[in-house]
Amino acid sequence: MKEKRAIAILGSTGSIGTQALEVIASHPESFQVEVLTAQNNADLLIEQAKKFKPNAVVIVNEAFYEKVKAALLPLDIKVFAGENALASVVQMDSIDLVLTALVGYSGLKPTIKAIEAGKHIALANKETLVVAGELVTQLAREKGVNIYPVDSEHSAIFQCMVGEFHNPIEKIILTASGGPFRGKKRDELLYVTKTQALKHPNWTMGAKVTIDSASLMNKGLEVIEAKWLFGLKFEQVEVVVHPQSIIHSLVQFEDGSIKAQLGLPDMRLPIQFAMSYPERLKSDFPRFDFTNYPALTFEKPDTETFRNLALAFEALARGGNMPCVLNAANEIAVEEFLQDRIGFLQMSDVVERCLSKMDYIATPAFEDYVNTDKETRIKAKELIN
Ligand code: MG
Repeated sequence: MKEKRAIAILGSTGSIGTQALEVIASHPESFQVEVLTAQNNADLLIEQAKKFKPNAVVIVNEAFYEKVKAALLPLDIKVFAGENALASVVQMDSIDLVLTALVGYSGLKPTIKAIEAGKHIALANKETLVVAGELVTQLAREKGVNIYPVDSEHSAIFQCMVGEFHNPIEKIILTASGGPFRGKKRDELLYVTKTQALKHPNWTMGAKVTIDSASLMNKGLEVIEAKWLFGLKFEQVEVVVHPQSIIHSLVQFEDGSIKAQLGLPDMRLPIQFAMSYPERLKSDFPRFDFTNYPALTFEKPDTETFRNLALAFEALARGGNMPCVLNAANEIAVEEFLQDRIGFLQMSDVVERCLSKMDYIATPAFEDYVNTDKETRIKAKELIN
């Protein structure tokens, strides 16, 4: 690449964040780390900062501020703490690209702040577009900011679109692995545990997205994310289960031609492409061998067992603040499932009841999203207790 890109990584100690740093470490000529942020993992944040020498770090949990400061201030690295620091640090002049790898709703505000400051976004936090896709994509257009998808499915579609941006999309086909419970019926899922749900067959990811994958909510969130990223109607987004996770997604154009992007499941590739676009950088990631996969198979998603996918389509069809309700209810449901307080199938019940009980707002402003998120969380907790 011609010029080095200065990257801010929000959520550098998580699964996406650590893989992004692997990519950066292999391409010191292309990238430099400007900002690293972590929620709680002060030790790893300190270790990363010592290695990559960013201009600044943020530890969101203020309890660890003194510890991080003591370790990094002598190295001339600025140290900030708290949620608000996250929203201001993304606006630093020296940043070219912000990789948003925060978990859930917490990604929304810093992403909006970064866009307001004209920073391009590598988006790994799909919830940002689920909650407030209309507002975020409109703001990005106004500011001339590009949003590069990191989610593997959306990266696949984006890669298929290169050279085709002037051609209308007829539909996109998002592939889903089906998760660890593919083929199971409702009565078999009544008593599954979090340990079983956390065992994803193909991908190693953070806990939230792994549970979402097992419940197909992840695919539901990705349908909404795709709608906003690629400017589609929900009727143009289709989901197909593809258990091998080799085809990462497909685009069908108006002449009927379908393009797909393939590769072994490895998040480093979409992370790298989001950071290096429009260039492709040489990598030593393991290569796909067709002879190891004599069959790539496809099936319809079972939305009677995995109701979350149908609920996500419903929220998207209703529009307004309903995807925000869907997301907030799901975040609480996943949290409660991970604490063994509700069963696997009850997660969909919580989401469904919140969708029917929360007030509908047709064209929400930022504050409406904040309130919808807060009130839905309260409602979801009431329903569980
Ligand atoms: Mg994905």
